[in-house]
Amino acid sequence: MSGRELPTSPHLYHIQTYEFGYPSGKMKLSSAYWSKLHLARKRWSFRDSRLARRLVMAIVLFSSLLTVTFTGAQLYLQYRLDLQNVDQSAQIIRDSWLASLTESIWDYDTDLIEMQLNGMINLPFIMQIQLKLSDGQYFAVGHPSADDTLLFKFPLQHVQAGKMHALGALTVVADTARIHQDLIRYALTILVSNLIKAALVVIFMLFIFQLLLGQHLIQIVAYLTGSDGHDPRQPMRLHRHGKDRDELDDLVNAYNDMSQRLTEENQRRLEESEQRSAMQQQLARMDRQVTMGEMATSLAHELNQPLASITGYADICRRFLSQQEMAKLDRTLEKISNEALRASEIIRRTREFVRSRKTARENIRVYDLLETTLAIIQHSADQVNVELRLEVDATADEVVYIDKIQIQQVLINLLKNAMDALVSLPEPRLIRVRAVMEQERVRIQVIDNGSGIDPQVMETLFSPFVTTKDDGMGIGLAISRAIVEAHHGQLRADNQPDGGACFELDLAISCE
Ligand code: ADP
Repeated sequence: MSGRELPTSPHLYHIQTYEFGYPSGKMKLSSAYWSKLHLARKRWSFRDSRLARRLVMAIVLFSSLLTVTFTGAQLYLQYRLDLQNVDQSAQIIRDSWLASLTESIWDYDTDLIEMQLNGMINLPFIMQIQLKLSDGQYFAVGHPSADDTLLFKFPLQHVQAGKMHALGALTVVADTARIHQDLIRYALTILVSNLIKAALVVIFMLFIFQLLLGQHLIQIVAYLTGSDGHDPRQPMRLHRHGKDRDELDDLVNAYNDMSQRLTEENQRRLEESEQRSAMQQQLARMDRQVTMGEMATSLAHELNQPLASITGYADICRRFLSQQEMAKLDRTLEKISNEALRASEIIRRTREFVRSRKTARENIRVYDLLETTLAIIQHSADQVNVELRLEVDATADEVVYIDKIQIQQVLINLLKNAMDALVSLPEPRLIRVRAVMEQERVRIQVIDNGSGIDPQVMETLFSPFVTTKDDGMGIGLAISRAIVEAHHGQLRADNQPDGGACFELDLAISCE
């Protein structure tokens, strides 16, 4: 956790991502975000509103479908009606005119025949009347057109003294081309009127859409992207008139409730995580102190070496001084100074390791990290005849961005555990510390040839207070895993196929 304080706001999640995701302090925003922001700054416009465009498209498609269906149905009904009218005209001729025409033909009154034929031609849809008499006489009234006609043929017969006389045939030609023209005109009228209706409905719907939805959606986007400059702690409010609640109000209320809950939840998690981290730091310090307590004897021994050397060199100095051997005296004094530096380095390293301090990450070479860590524990290993073997090849020059003391603490915990597992076993006792590259990460392995991890604790190995040792606290591995995870790394454990345990931790390589 960085020490920076997070503001209480509905956008806390954004801020957290920014805190962890961009340590440079610059928030990188996607192009989608900027286009939304751009939209939010503008007033509502049809061109920008995909929803409005879809709405218009849906209305146009649906109304076209309705128009085509209803126009088709209306045209069909009209066509049926026109055909009925044609039939009706033919029926009138058959029922009202045929008998008197037959009489006129029997009497051979040509004036009357022509008058009757002219009467028939006035009936609706009738274009031409043709009369063909059996003696070859032919009468025709009206003008036939070449196509689109309907013919009705009536035979003409006269009964005289019980005898039937065939007088000829009457052909009625009805005009259906007019019916078709009327239908086309009718269809066009319906289509145009429906199109105008649809256009008016679209305009009205857009107006309603903008009034009821569009402007508020713009406002919601502006609020969510923060582009309207509001205080992010204020709940979202829409500028609306009227008291009736609708779904938009429900949406805004639901958002505000959710936002409030998230803020509270976030705050709670933040406090919990701060408490946890404080506790972890304290535990880690305690763990280091316990480790150092255990290592105090070896520390005293480690310091003993340079101090003994210093005493020895001081005696030699005195001798050189009495013999006036100034050059030799100078070299020996330099050795004293180096030994004193070595002793103070041991003290500094120990103090740095135990001291309570703020976390600080730095770039460190993998080799330097492992070498200085092994130096701290080397003497304890020597005392129980455990060989520490460092196996680092190409990874040696890789650099990791870590809190050195914390990762050293993890490694020392793993090394101490390995030594504990080896101490009761016959020699050779070996701990290999390997560093290998694994998918852009450095994997550090601590492998021992001890008895392996007890299967009974394998599942709960990293839980606090799990131990198989009489004097164990069972917090070393729990703290180690917390430290590694705080470095976005992983700490795992497994038994080796040929005996012994293997602990490995992955660390990201520094990009520098
Ligand atoms: P403690 O060392 O106080 O027991 P740890 O959390 O460091 O606490 O270790 C928990 C347990 O994990 C140990 O008690 C031991 O049973 C097991 N363990 C850890 N490292 C090894 C190892 N290298 N070999 C076998 N068992 C191990």
